[in-house]
Formats: sequence, structure tokens, C-alpha cells
Amino acid sequence: MQAKIIDGKALAAAVKQEAAAQVEALKAQGVTPCLAVVLVGEDPASQVYVRGKINDCAQCGIESRSIRLPETTTQEELLAHVKALAEDSAVHGILVQLPLPAQINEKAVIDAIPPEKDVDGFSPVNVGRMQIGEPCYLPCTPAGCIRMIESTGTDISGKQAVVIGRSNIVGKPAALLLLAKNATVTICHSKTKNLQEICASADILVAAVGREGFVTGDMVKPGAVVIDVGINRGADGKLHGDVDFAAASEKAAWITPVPGGVGPMTRAMLMLNTVEAARRASGN
Ligand code: NDP
Repeated sequence: MQAKIIDGKALAAAVKQEAAAQVEALKAQGVTPCLAVVLVGEDPASQVYVRGKINDCAQCGIESRSIRLPETTTQEELLAHVKALAEDSAVHGILVQLPLPAQINEKAVIDAIPPEKDVDGFSPVNVGRMQIGEPCYLPCTPAGCIRMIESTGTDISGKQAVVIGRSNIVGKPAALLLLAKNATVTICHSKTKNLQEICASADILVAAVGREGFVTGDMVKPGAVVIDVGINRGADGKLHGDVDFAAASEKAAWITPVPGGVGPMTRAMLMLNTVEAARRASGN
């Protein structure tokens, strides 16, 4: 079997069109969604991500504010910026690009973003709401993964889903969202035994490890849907996923590429969350 590709770029374009249509409707009611993106320091990858988010906003008709602070910014200074954005009613979403320099406590910063403007879905309130199935902002990467799986026509309900990775931003929420869709979910991590066996039982396999080529062909069940979240800079200077794409493609029914898979979808889902934040703030 040769897997079909889940085209993240095409799906992301469709999601952004969906966001743009909602922006139009909000603008007609006098509300212009606005996302503030805060970048501390000069990390090249973060700069690329932030530029991408600002471009996405422009494409969707969302206003953006880019706040760039020096590497030496103190926690108090950053918190003061976040507080000002939190109090600014024209700003609907606040995103502080991670990672932050060592002198700043990431948790304190995330906690300072009011839940209603936490379009990344990282704040404890949003995480808790997701856990109990209440309306919230879903974290963009896992929410994008679910959309990608559903785009294949796969009914998640009743499927065996395996998530490799248990980070707060990808692995755990991906598992929770799959559970909410009635999958039977197993979470694997660095202490998991029989990883190969567990993965090979998965109808849906989500890899969020951060190791190039970690998922080998023998870990993929024939006919599986494979979602590769990993972004790893290879020795060749190019981006690679966590999955051995060539080997997995021979077994899977569907697979996401890297690049051009989960990455673009993550960005597109941020646009939807920002529009939703504006809609809620406007009382619509
Ligand atoms: P973390 O480093 O926070 O988590 C990695 C997880 O992988 C941990 O839970 C760890 O287990 C597990 N792991 C590590 N080694 C093994 C092993 N040998 N066997 C089984 N499990 C293992 O990473 P993130 O979740 O933040 O990100 C994962 C990947 O996804 C990265 O490549 C990152 O760049 C990418 N990413 C991509 C995004 C996108 O938009 N496409 C967005 C966010 C991340 P343990 O908990 O036991 O240590």
C-alpha cells in the first residue's frame, strides 16, 4: 500500500478561508479581530514563526500587533507588556512566542494571559476546560491534528489511537482530543515498554517526540493514519519529521508530510482561535 498524503498546506488554506469569512462577518458588525504577538529575543526559528503568524493574520483580514522585545528583557518588563495587552479591549488574542530567555519564567507569563485572550490554549483555565469538555480555546497543534485526521474521512470513534509524546502543548492535549472523539487512546513516552508493539496496533498514530525518523516502518499498522508532528533540523540542514516517511508510507493509508503537514495547520488553527476570541469579546 502507498499512503495518501494529508496535504497540510491545502487544508490550512481552507481553514484560513473559513477564518477570513468569519472576519468579514465580524467586521460587518464593527468588530476587527486583533492578535498581539510578543517576541522576546532574536531566536531565528521564533522570528520565522512570528513572521508567519503576522502574514497569516493579514491573509485572513485579522489585525496584528507585533511587539518585539530585546533578549535582555526582564520578567517584570514582559509581564507589564502582557498586562497592557490584557487590558486593551481592541486586542482579542495574545500570543507570547516560546521559548523565552532563561531569565523569564514561562509559566508566570502564560498565567498572566487572561483565559479569554489565550488563543494558544496553554493557560491552566483553558487546559482545564478542555479536560472537562467545556468551551475553550483548543491548543492549535493538537486541534490541527484532529482536523487532519478527519479530513481523510476516518471516523475516529472506536479507533485505537496511539500518541507518542506527553508534552503539555502537544502529546497530552492530542490524546485528550482523540479521547473526546471516542478513540481508545494510549499515550507513550520515554519510559514506555514495548513501544514498537503498541504503535503497530494503532489505527491512528500521532508522533510528537522531537527525534528525526523515530517512527520506523515496523511501528506502523497497515492502513493506519499517521500524523507526524515532529519538526527536526536534520544534518542536511532540512526539516524532518519524527516518522521515517518513506518506510511509513508503504504501510499507512494516510500520512502527513514534514514540512507541509502539521506546521501550516497549527498556524491556521491560531487564526480560528483569534476570530473566536473576537466573536466572544463582542458578545456575538
Ligand atoms: P517535548 O520534548 O516537550 O516532548 C517530547 C515527548 O517525547 C516527551 O513526552 C518524551 O517523553 C517523548 N519521548 C522522548 N524520547 C522518547 C522515546 N525514546 N520513546 C518514547 N517517547 C519519547 O516536545 P514537544 O511535544 O514540544 O514537541 C514534539 C515535537 O513536535 C518536536 O519536534 C517539536 O518541534 C514539534 N512541534 C511541532 C509543532 C508544529 O506546529 N508542527 C508544534 C509543537 C511542537 P518523556 O515525557 O518521558 O520525556
